[in-house]
Parts: sequence; structure tokens; C-alpha cells
Amino acid sequence: MISTIEHYEILLGLTSPWEVTKVELSTEQLKVDIHITHIGESACCPECGQDCRVYDHSPERTWRHLDTMQFETTLHCRPPRVKCNEHGVKTAAIPWAGKHSRFTQLFEAFAINVMIASRSLQEAGKLLRLNWQQLHSLMKRAVERGLDRRVADEIPWVGMDEKSFRKGHKYVSIINDIEEGRVLDVVEGREGKAADKLINKALNEKQREMVCGVSIDMSAPYISAINRLLPHADIVHDKFHISQHLNNAVDKTRRQEHRVLMKDKDEILKGTKFLWLKGVDHLSDESLAQLESIKKRELNVSKAWYIRELFVHFWARRDAVFAQSYFDYWYKEAFGTGLPEVRKVARMLKKHLANILTYFDCYITNAFSEGINSKIQTIKANARGFRNFENYRISILFFCGKLDLAPQKLT
Ligand SMILES: [Zn+2]
Repeated sequence: MISTIEHYEILLGLTSPWEVTKVELSTEQLKVDIHITHIGESACCPECGQDCRVYDHSPERTWRHLDTMQFETTLHCRPPRVKCNEHGVKTAAIPWAGKHSRFTQLFEAFAINVMIASRSLQEAGKLLRLNWQQLHSLMKRAVERGLDRRVADEIPWVGMDEKSFRKGHKYVSIINDIEEGRVLDVVEGREGKAADKLINKALNEKQREMVCGVSIDMSAPYISAINRLLPHADIVHDKFHISQHLNNAVDKTRRQEHRVLMKDKDEILKGTKFLWLKGVDHLSDESLAQLESIKKRELNVSKAWYIRELFVHFWARRDAVFAQSYFDYWYKEAFGTGLPEVRKVARMLKKHLANILTYFDCYITNAFSEGINSKIQTIKANARGFRNFENYRISILFFCGKLDLAPQKLT
């Protein structure tokens, strides 16, 4: 029969000079406390790995480990300090945990998997019996490791976008790797300085030279930052942002018209918002019939809707030359409606046309980021609004960065 102490040494994979010296079990508190002692005369310097003489021992530290059955399990140890000729007195590396961590590597690895698999951080916290702050410290360390390990490969196609952060019109800017479908980094703000910082933070000089195309909305600060910092990149104004602008024009036109009609108690546009905004492919037969019947009235909203529908065909042109001539036709139609909201978008698209036609060379859009967007929405909803930007950034990179988050292997 092996003793409880040997039993735990085997479970922990501890070998000399580390020994389990005491195991305490509290059946009332459902806790196991394992005390470990370093009995060797030498240990490794954490800086250079040299075997050095043990100088003394630091005060006791504790590490949360994987549970023993349902018993919360904690390791206790006074880590040895070594005196290295080169680095002076240093606390030796511990085989079961990373530097400064309050958790063992096995626990960290488990907690990361639980967080990723859980529907929310609250749920993960309950399962792991960790509070918000502890979860965040785990995530932060994991993301830092992941960013350190990320290889600075060529990233030819990137997308940049702004996201709201906190109520009260605070924004963050996000940069994505389109091919890999991952977030590269996040910074606070959406103005020129933020765009510069974002690009410089996410990509090194060599990577910046190699970016071929950037998908963005028609935002001036982003355009100027890209022109300066990504010298070989085509700007491609994103299909999805453009359709959002067209949708807004339809919706504003509907709202204005509805207000006017209601003065005569005409309720025809009441509750029709989504009828105009959803594509016809997504409407039920009933909604389609309603749409057809409203269209007979030849209202402004129908005209705006028609212009939006007409623009869909722009994307299906064979190349930039065909697309350019289709645009000219569309622009005339759009202007012909006389609707201010539609004209406004038409003018904006005309102004940026050169960088819309680049789509026919690159075929990039921020479409993939729809998936990332919905993940970010969940992150936001889970985090009670994220008062702290850095926590928000860490969460986005943790869940959407496709980073190697696993705890470090100590040698
Ligand atoms: Zn050393």
C-alpha cells in the first residue's frame, strides 16, 4: 500500500528534490491542502537555467490545483531562492506553475478550456469557483502568452472596423486577419491616432509592407492611416458597410414618410421597418405580399428600397470596368429619385468609388467578421458593459484571437 503522501507525489508527478511532506483533508470545507518541500541543495536560476546553490526559501505561496474529486485542492510551498553568479538572488522556477501565477499549469489549462466551452464567463466562474477578477487574471496571462507566441507571418488581407464600447459613444478600433478569421488587436478610439496605433501594434514593419488589401468602411481617419502606414495596400470599402449605409437611407426615408402619412392618419407604414430592411429572400410569403401591396402606392420608401436592391447587382459585375459603368447607371437612378437620404449615400459612394471598385481586384469584405461580431456582442453582454478597456481587449483577444493560450511548458 502506498501512503497518501506518495499517492499525491505520483498524481502531481513530483520527483526529487520536490517532496510532498503533508496532506491535509478537510471534509467539512471540502478541501485538500498539499504541502510540498524542496529538499535539494541546488535549484535552477529562473533567468539562465544554471544549476545554482540554494540561498534560502521564500515565504509560503499557494497554488490552486485541479480538484481531488469534489475537494478544492491547493498546493503550498516555500519556493527555494538561488544565488546565481550572474543574476544574483532569485526565486527558483516551480515545476507546476508559471511565474507569478496563483494556479498550477494543469488548473490554468483546464480553466481556459472551461471558459472557452462555457456560454458565459459567469457560468465558467461558477463551474470553476473563481470570481470575475480571477477569471480575468487567467485570461490576461493566457492572452499575453498567446501574443508572445504569435508568429509574425505575412497577413495579406486585413479588415479594420470600429465597435462601440460602453454606452455614451465610446469606441474601439479592431483589426482582423481576414484569411484566418481572427482578431489581431484592439485599441481605444476610432480617430486617426487610434488607427495609427492599431496598425503599428498589430503588424511589424515587414508585415505592414506586405499587406495587399484592407477592407474598411468609408471613414477618413482609417483611410489616411492606411495610406501612410500600409504603402502597398489597396483600400476596399466594404460591401457590408455599404449595404448598411443604403439600409440607413431606406430606413430614414421610411421614418420621415411615416411621420407625414400619420398626420393624415394613414398607417400603411406602421410596423414595416423590417419589411424594407430584410432582403426579399428572407421574407415570408405573407410579408412579401404585404410588401407588394405597399409598393403599389409608389411611396418614397419603395423608391429608396428599389435603389438599394438595384445596388446588389453592382457586386455581381464581371470586373471593375463593367462595375464602373453599372455604377454610373445606378447613380443616375438614385439621383433621379430626388430623395435626400438616397442622394446623400449616392454622393458618398461616388466620392469613394475608386476604392469601391478595388473589390474587383481583391474580393475582400468584412463578411467573415460577422461571426466575430456576434462573439464580441456576447462578450459585451457577458461583461456587464466592460468599464475597463483593457479587460475588454483581453476578452476579445482571448475568444477571437485564435491564440495559443495554453500554459507555458517549463523546462
Ligand atoms: Zn542565472
